[in-house]
Amino acid sequence: MAVLRIVRYGEDLLRQPTKEVGKISSKIKKLASDMIETMYANNGVGLAATQVGEGYRLFVIDVAEENEPANPLVFVNPKIVKKFDPINSYEGCLSFPGAYTNVRRYANVVVKAKDLKGKPFVLEATDGTLLAKAIQHETDHLDGILFVDHARNRFEANAELAKHELPPIEDENLLNEDEMENIIQIAEVKEAEEEKQKKLQEEQDAQTAAAEIHE
Ligand SMILES: [Zn+2]
Repeated sequence: MAVLRIVRYGEDLLRQPTKEVGKISSKIKKLASDMIETMYANNGVGLAATQVGEGYRLFVIDVAEENEPANPLVFVNPKIVKKFDPINSYEGCLSFPGAYTNVRRYANVVVKAKDLKGKPFVLEATDGTLLAKAIQHETDHLDGILFVDHARNRFEANAELAKHELPPIEDENLLNEDEMENIIQIAEVKEAEEEKQKKLQEEQDAQTAAAEIHE
């Protein structure tokens, strides 16, 4: 196994198209195990073949917590067949060292892929978990799409990129996700309102309790 060099944002390799993996050769198996080692060496939760300069439809993910045993998942020729319920996702990427920004994702996805034995599987990731977000992030990499292409606020994203000495957002690659954005904003307004109501109620309860002590 070997730790591979990770391609950085600004290098054309990140935008290169990928080809389907045919036979799962020993070369592909070695690439997958090197990618897992590279992901661990960089404390990442996912890594796509494009990020190590290989144009194959292949990515690896491990969303296990620190206190859990390692659980590397390999996705060969992944395809997201269903995605729904837009949400905000605060993300980074190993190709963007240190930079994080808010992007649009779906809370729920269904992905079809093959494992390293060539066995097809279907995985459903729901509730906006790290796994659900990682599957979208890594599948995007295989289509030359980067997380900043989903940025909710390009000014915020550009400030963050500049802070980490990375090139600015490539405007021509920004995705038009107005519909997703509307849904996310409506949910955020509703959440803020509920939070406000909860605080008011807590204040009232505290006042009532204080009044009772005085009686
Ligand atoms: Zn990434």
